[in-house]
Amino acid sequence: MSDYIVSARKYRPATFDSVVGQSALTTTLKNAIASGKLAHAYLFCGPRGVGKTTSARIFAKTINCLSPNDRGEACDVCESCVAFNEQRSYNIHELDAASNNSVDDIRELIEQVQIPPQVGRYKVFIIDEVHMLSQAAFNAFLKTLEEPPAHAIFILATTEKHKILPTILSRCQIYDFNRMEVADIVNHLRKVADNEGYTYEDSALNVIARKADGGMRDALSVFDQVASYTSGNITYAKVIENLNVLDYDYYFDLTESLLKTDIPRVMLTLNEILSKGFEANHFMGGLAAHFRDLLVSRDPQTLPLLEVAESVRERYGEQAARCTPKFLYGALRLCNDCDINYRASRNKRLLVELTLIQVAQLLQEEDAPGCGRRPARCLLPIFNPAPAKTAATGERPALQTESAAVQPVQIRNATAPPATAPSVALSSPPPQPTAPQRTVASGMNSTLLREKLKTVSLTRPPGTASTAASGTTVASASAETAAAAPRKELLAETFSFEQFIYQWMRFANELPPSNRSIAGRLKVMATEEGRISIENDAATGQPKAVALVENEAAAQHMRHVEAALTAYLRSTLRNDLLTIAFEVDTTKRIKKRAYSPREIYQQMLEKNDAFKQLAIALKLELA
Ligand SMILES: [Zn+2]
Repeated sequence: MSDYIVSARKYRPATFDSVVGQSALTTTLKNAIASGKLAHAYLFCGPRGVGKTTSARIFAKTINCLSPNDRGEACDVCESCVAFNEQRSYNIHELDAASNNSVDDIRELIEQVQIPPQVGRYKVFIIDEVHMLSQAAFNAFLKTLEEPPAHAIFILATTEKHKILPTILSRCQIYDFNRMEVADIVNHLRKVADNEGYTYEDSALNVIARKADGGMRDALSVFDQVASYTSGNITYAKVIENLNVLDYDYYFDLTESLLKTDIPRVMLTLNEILSKGFEANHFMGGLAAHFRDLLVSRDPQTLPLLEVAESVRERYGEQAARCTPKFLYGALRLCNDCDINYRASRNKRLLVELTLIQVAQLLQEEDAPGCGRRPARCLLPIFNPAPAKTAATGERPALQTESAAVQPVQIRNATAPPATAPSVALSSPPPQPTAPQRTVASGMNSTLLREKLKTVSLTRPPGTASTAASGTTVASASAETAAAAPRKELLAETFSFEQFIYQWMRFANELPPSNRSIAGRLKVMATEEGRISIENDAATGQPKAVALVENEAAAQHMRHVEAALTAYLRSTLRNDLLTIAFEVDTTKRIKKRAYSPREIYQQMLEKNDAFKQLAIALKLELA
């Protein structure tokens, strides 16, 4: 065993071309050497184990080679190269600033700098982890770095570029080394394994490469460890066992259960994982990575970002096809929240369990309309949109809320004098059918809007108002009577959920002060998730908005404005088929807002019987 050399050393690249995954950098360096345009100081930045020191050594060897070949590489046969290869060259000095960071160490180095090389043309000084030099050492070094002798070249290497003083940075040519890609590392490991006569599975090498996180040195040392553990037969099963990596099968299975909202199965899988000794937060990190991988495998464009072995790619593609992007975004967000809260959480296991349950319920929310995040739903047109010219609707039906008019009547709004009522249409001709408020941002306040409408109305050419409905009409609940003015066709334009809510809010804002409580209720409905849903009626295809209220009394209360609201929305949304109903929430969809973890937990117990049983079986408790 005395001649055993670790792979990281044995397979350390000796030429620019063999440096893995940094071809852009090595080409630049080669070109600099070939053209003789050498700087006196270089700064190599990048994570550990990506080839900074290796490249520096190759650089030192190549610039001293007496007869470099036509590819710009060192010849490996001249006196200088042989000395380099036998590690007895005096033209290279390495200082590890992590352990030698004092002024004396730097002084010693500076003395060496003054001595010209015996063989070759340059002396190369490699200072590793240069950010570790003490302030005094830095200052001592600065002078030499500013005015080095012609034969001296400094290569400073660091993993933490931000710690390098600007005075140093400005004197160096800076090269940024990238983290290596998994595929590059796997390729290299394959070569090493072939060379050593090991048998291996690609998925096993992939696990090693991922574990190394972009560093070749780490990858090779893990590789050595695994190779000796498996006696040269590197299988996936043995690698995950040896490295204590969680099998990706778990992630696939768990995602499967989540997609089925099979919460008991999710909990049992989690239990199995934790009982194997895996940390819950590492597991969540892995799960988040799995969701991310699913997300990138959904789109051919992002597919290259998927860094997994060829053998599992298909599995990712297959599972990704059954996940909606919305589910994946939601799941990633929840995993991220869990990660953020993990440290502070007193019951970490419960936090993870809750997160998984929430992920599982993402799909339920998707299925149930009106629950979860409000979707930007667009209702399909039922008829072709009516020609704009015929659409002379009462642009701004004044509201006569108390009497809940069923038939068109002249405005005599008892609750609000005409002067203060929202009655722009009274004093000016109704605006053009292409009503501007359909495009205004929903944040615009009502007064502004009124002003705008007024302007539009006033700038209309005279005479076009002839077909206009009288703005004073209180529209009724039925489509037939809603428009007081002659209208040739029913309007059935599409509108988005946001537009609907926007007009709903405007209606609420324009209600007279005597209807403050109704206005308040309307606003709450519009702002709370899940309170209002719009569907196209299965039988007629007509858009039907359902607003949930807490109880029958509230429903009665709201029905006072139902007709006026319907008319208003039909008019402003330009869809005469729209119906609105206030329904008592029987399915408990109105959320009692849960804020604290205890409330969330309580709600989950109430909502999900399976979870409740599990909580009892596993004796789950909030700490
Ligand atoms: Zn040579």
